[in-house]
Amino acid sequence: MLRAQDLKLRQSDRQWAVDLVNHLRESLLVFLKNSDEQPYFQSASVLSSGSYYEMVKILNPNEFDMMLKLQSPSRLKMTELDQYHGLFYEVALSRSTRSHIRSFLLDDGVTISASKIISEMHRLVRKFIIHISNHLGWRWVVNRKRPNSPAVTLSLLEVDNGKQELLSVDVVPALEVPSSQGWPLAARAGPDVDNWLGKKTRRSLTHQTCFFVPKKPPGRNLSEAAKESWRISFSHIEKELIKTHGNKRTCCETSATKCCRKQCFKLLKCLIEGLKQRYPQELDALCSYHGKTAFLHTLSIRAQDSLWTPRQLPACFMHLLRALEGHARSGLLPHFFVPTSNLFAPPTFPRKALVFLIEALEDQRRQGLPLLMPPAPAPPLAVHSHSDSQPQLSPVVQQTPVIQYPVILPPQVVEMKSFEQMFKIVALVMVLVYVCYLL
Ligand SMILES: [Zn+2]
Repeated sequence: MLRAQDLKLRQSDRQWAVDLVNHLRESLLVFLKNSDEQPYFQSASVLSSGSYYEMVKILNPNEFDMMLKLQSPSRLKMTELDQYHGLFYEVALSRSTRSHIRSFLLDDGVTISASKIISEMHRLVRKFIIHISNHLGWRWVVNRKRPNSPAVTLSLLEVDNGKQELLSVDVVPALEVPSSQGWPLAARAGPDVDNWLGKKTRRSLTHQTCFFVPKKPPGRNLSEAAKESWRISFSHIEKELIKTHGNKRTCCETSATKCCRKQCFKLLKCLIEGLKQRYPQELDALCSYHGKTAFLHTLSIRAQDSLWTPRQLPACFMHLLRALEGHARSGLLPHFFVPTSNLFAPPTFPRKALVFLIEALEDQRRQGLPLLMPPAPAPPLAVHSHSDSQPQLSPVVQQTPVIQYPVILPPQVVEMKSFEQMFKIVALVMVLVYVCYLL
């Protein structure tokens, strides 16, 4: 049976997809601009962000993201939600307003409702889709709302061939903090890039604006304030950091100054996607953002370009993998921009999921990264299956990945230095070269 990931766009089709998404973006902006019934969205613009623009999608290169920038008529009052350490906020206007945003305010007349914004976004996109011209053979559809997702997802389906999805686009509304206003207190110190990119770059980054996306914290029994809360977003700056990643400005400008940072990131994202596909329930809390955060921390610590030459790719990737594993073991992965927020802290990242992640990463490392091997995830890992969908507690033993073909060598022999390991790493590099060629 054909799976979605088998439908990866070939390089020759890539331009077709990019043109299509660009056309969709422009049409959506025109539609919103002319939409009299919802004037607040008329001034929206698109902030390019997301993995497509970072060129780091591997397993699903046919997924696109775009942030729809929404303006605030006045300064914002940003109140941190307790227990989320500067990641989630109640966002309110500093004074009442008669401008178009008032349709999206709560009863107090100043607090901006995240749920009203995302619902309206859904409604508008559904209406827009009726207007967009569908060609013979395929059509756009709006996916059902996903719980706790800030995105409206559009899919391009083939009309024949079982309505297969050809590509998808996540449209995320993003409320811009006015440029006259600094970042919230928890992010005020700015990202730790002094040793890596220099103080001057840090200043220019922190002078940029930041955004809020309509995403509430995970979990049930949320307070009324939490249900309408927003998550802070620096994705536009993360994109910039990943693009201009060098200690020196010349990094990756020519083939002579090429580095392997982006390739390492691609591999880590690939591994995380692979782990999530294999253990969707156990690693539900894990997302690519954990990989991105570990990557940014690693870049800021291993700052020198000379540590990331293409020749060192296998060692650099193992370093990055160990960094993620280290964060998981310590249970501490500070948000890169909001360091008081720990992305591996419960309840957002449950303790048993963290234990499972540690085991899974260690197994991958010891077995030579089977999830990164072609043609697809290799078979050695398997978990005990449970008849019920909710495994019971004390799951550490139950959920520990079981190696069907036990590694009989002691860990110190199985480490990087073993011949077999090196062989697998060489194979990994070959896969990477192939993937890069495709991209
Ligand atoms: Zn570089």
